[in-house]
Amino acid sequence: MSFAQLGLIPEILKAVAEQGYTTPTPIQQQTIPLILQGKDVLAGAQTGTGKTASFTLPMLQRLTETTKTLHKAPPVRAIILTPTRELAAQVHDNVNIYGKHLALRAEVIVGGASIMMQTRNLRKGCDIIVATPGRLIDHIMQKNVNLGQVEILILDEADRMLDMGFLPAIRQIMNLLPKQRQSLLFSATVPNDIKTLAATVLNNPVSVEV
Ligand code: AMP
Repeated sequence: MSFAQLGLIPEILKAVAEQGYTTPTPIQQQTIPLILQGKDVLAGAQTGTGKTASFTLPMLQRLTETTKTLHKAPPVRAIILTPTRELAAQVHDNVNIYGKHLALRAEVIVGGASIMMQTRNLRKGCDIIVATPGRLIDHIMQKNVNLGQVEILILDEADRMLDMGFLPAIRQIMNLLPKQRQSLLFSATVPNDIKTLAATVLNNPVSVEV
């Protein structure tokens, strides 16, 4: 099984090859074709399985496919929520690496960094936001960002987000997103509270476990 067989476009295949990846991991093999088809996915996968590329590669491709015109200040079309600043920074790095041959802009929005700088960056426009839930809410309240055109919502390490008390923030963000969207939930473990969250966030999801 190769990355090309998963249906990825040349720009993404090139970035993946430049990372030295030759074979997709099991979670990548299972989730990438589903996500490219537009399905909602509930994925049980630990760190180290290649989960980040599992959602990032097809997200980048779907955004590229639905780009209508090249905006000077593009609307936000994808949101990736993570439990910690460190993970947000890592995911943002991955988005930039895998998307280096595409014309998409990603911003990282986390606590502990300058609100003013983030505000300036958000106003310039970006296609993708990688955020911790609390700081994204701050920017939403200040009307620095509009989520009305979001096409893809991704929850990364959802079990850790619940452990850290982010459920109300996640719900608040979800309520501002278009109902018609693709949603992906990745979690190391899938206990009952994650199943309950999945039932409200995801629409007719396919479950994948590795
Ligand atoms: P993750 O589970 O997303 O934290 O990824 C774990 C590590 O595996 C990261 O350092 C990735 O760069 C690497 N990785 C992801 N996919 C592949 C792949 N298909 N082949 C080799 N390494 C990979």
